Amino acid sequence: MAGHVKAIGLLSGGLDSVLAVALLKQQGIEVTGLLVRTGFTDHKESSPDGSRTVSDVANALGIPLRIEDISREYWTTLFYPKHGYGKNMNPCLDCHLHMVRVAARIMREEGADFVFTGEVMGQRPKSQMAHQLKTVLEESGISGSLLRPLSALRLAPTIPELEGKVDRSRLKGFFGRQRGPQLALARELGVEHLAVAAGGNCFLTNKEFSDRFKDHLAQFGKEHFPKEDVPLLRIGRHFRLSPSAKVIISRNEEEYELLQPYKNGKYVFELLDVTGASALGTGTFSEEDLILASQLTGRYSKAVKRETLRVRVTRDDWERIIETTPLDKDDPRIEALRI
Ligand code: SF4
Repeated sequence: MAGHVKAIGLLSGGLDSVLAVALLKQQGIEVTGLLVRTGFTDHKESSPDGSRTVSDVANALGIPLRIEDISREYWTTLFYPKHGYGKNMNPCLDCHLHMVRVAARIMREEGADFVFTGEVMGQRPKSQMAHQLKTVLEESGISGSLLRPLSALRLAPTIPELEGKVDRSRLKGFFGRQRGPQLALARELGVEHLAVAAGGNCFLTNKEFSDRFKDHLAQFGKEHFPKEDVPLLRIGRHFRLSPSAKVIISRNEEEYELLQPYKNGKYVFELLDVTGASALGTGTFSEEDLILASQLTGRYSKAVKRETLRVRVTRDDWERIIETTPLDKDDPRIEALRI
């Protein structure tokens, strides 16, 4: 094989990315792992029990890990995906292209020979079918320098293969959703216990998060979307009261604390006299919305049916006390308004 060879590999921590690294390391190629953060993960990228992170995986593989935060520029990819969305708000093909472009930049910066990913042809219907792999090649700007070691034998040889920097005969031709061949390779390479299921960390693939995101988008539009509110979309119960008014009700003490940093400029609903939930209101509330939000907040308190509730509503320096009754837990409006 030709001299010293260096590569940049996207490392999500999932099994396929681990296998791709291990396969190239086996050929003596120097690998730098690259973890790209979009702003739509919890930034832990860890195993389900939280005991291992992608950094641990990189350490165990014996490679350095670069972490690139693209969350500021990612909004364009998210709002205007050329290739559309998956089942939820996940623009996987555009997102993957974005990550490959980041990897290409780092390849140039570090003087590496090529970029590689752990993609397996035919594994994910939205982003890994043959024509989609081809799209990434064509639109990434580094077509000949993008290697997919796990499906390489089903794809045209890349420049590093043609130049003898990578031994093509030691690459794989995996296809489809079966995991058997990958698990067998993991055992052969001794990496079967290394992977963390990091792919599942992306909120954009989550239906509840995506429904709330779309609802927020309908309220504010792309131009005025309050990006700082994104963490709120994962907290509490959400109810759409009117096109301009939404209320978020805490489910427990921990969520009450999590809502606190987002109070500025929003309505805050706090129950006086009884213990229970508190709520934040985003947007512009009519008198009707204020009362309904107070009744909904009361629904999640210890107040009994028809008991008069006092709810303190504040918005920055503005304050008023609303007296009303909690909604009954079977009130059909609750499910009708829930996002
Ligand atoms: S699952 Fe999320 S992070 Fe992964 S490619 Fe799709 S949008 Fe991007």
